[in-house]
Amino acid sequence: MQNESVYRELLEKYASHFGGEPSVAAYAPGRIEVLGNHTDYNEGFVFSAAIDYGTFFAVCPAEGTSCRLVAGDLMREVTFDINEILPSRNDTWQNYVKGTAAGIVALAAGPLKGFDAMFLGNIPLGSGLSSSAALEMCTGLALAKLYGVETDPVTMAKIGQKAEHEYAGCKCGLLDQISSLAGKEGMLVKTDFRSIVYETVDMGPDACFLMVNTNAKHRLVDGAYDQRRQACETAAAHFAKALRHPVTHLRDVTMAEWALYRRGLDPVAADRAAHPIGEDERVLLGAQMLQTGDLSGFGRLMFDSHASSRYLFENSCEELDAVVDICRKIPGVLGARLSGGGFGGSVVVLVHPRDAETAAAAIANVYNAKFETPCTVSMIHPAAGACLVK
Ligand code: ADP
Ligand code: MG
Repeated sequence: MQNESVYRELLEKYASHFGGEPSVAAYAPGRIEVLGNHTDYNEGFVFSAAIDYGTFFAVCPAEGTSCRLVAGDLMREVTFDINEILPSRNDTWQNYVKGTAAGIVALAAGPLKGFDAMFLGNIPLGSGLSSSAALEMCTGLALAKLYGVETDPVTMAKIGQKAEHEYAGCKCGLLDQISSLAGKEGMLVKTDFRSIVYETVDMGPDACFLMVNTNAKHRLVDGAYDQRRQACETAAAHFAKALRHPVTHLRDVTMAEWALYRRGLDPVAADRAAHPIGEDERVLLGAQMLQTGDLSGFGRLMFDSHASSRYLFENSCEELDAVVDICRKIPGVLGARLSGGGFGGSVVVLVHPRDAETAAAAIANVYNAKFETPCTVSMIHPAAGACLVK
């Protein structure tokens, strides 16, 4: 089992806190975004992967309707009633669980008993590896089992997304939850965000990833996010008028059409639009390259993706650019790009496993010398997705 020692620690803590064993337990991993940036809300394509770090959720039904919920690392407990699950301003970690619980309860046949639950994981929090989606998906799987609710992965992912929107206050897409559920060992997950259909694609044994967390957080992120989305919508409306075929999202526009029909579109909006359009094409090309085992070609697409973020979408920053520039000079590094929303956060690096340690040390050294503050480098192997473990 993935991360077995974390599960054992959780069971020990659960037993000493609640005085018994859980009846149900589930595991869910974090994720990396590998190729396809800001494409989900443009109804395009993304390559992602579930990672080998994750979170476990252990639960047992209670006698009454009260729920006791413990964050296993802090050993902090909160309580709420199963019939009144509301977001809280304190101990905000509970909102990911509560939002997910609310989604499951809405599908369950009542009346319902409460529960005694505890969760524990090893994903660094807030570092771009989506510890929040992992927490939602292990909660969702465990509570669905506990309450006898049948779901499919897309429904489960949407329950997690709704928890982020309505309980945690984060307007995320579906990528994180889908990746956490759909991951397979050694595989990338390729998702079409129009149909929300996904498949896994083999990476072969010659690839692993480094996740370089710059710990950089830049202000005005929310405003910049909204501006990017707005620019994509403006551009989609322009191409809907200019092209003969129906265009509802930038997914419907090719780079060739962009070049031919961009006239009349505000130049900044045109640059912004070129990013998700180019990313869609890179994901599709990358899929072909993986079929022929061309990891170097796939890595070049990752570098291209970063350049597109840096110069066209302008969602990069000095620290992310520096990591990618360092990576270009390290032998054995095949590709590197920012992962996730941008404006700070993490860079995902594709590297041959035999070069991973040397590359990680080189990145950390050069970064530290340049910024006089460390970045955090984690080695990541694409891993199995969420599952029930008890
Ligand atoms: P990310 O999803 O990239 O890690 P977020 O800000 O979306 O970053 O979610 C991080 C938050 O999720 C944490 O601040 C915490 O509230 C909650 N969380 C996730 N996993 C755990 C955990 N194992 N223990 C406590 N809190 C957790
Ligand atoms: Mg998150």
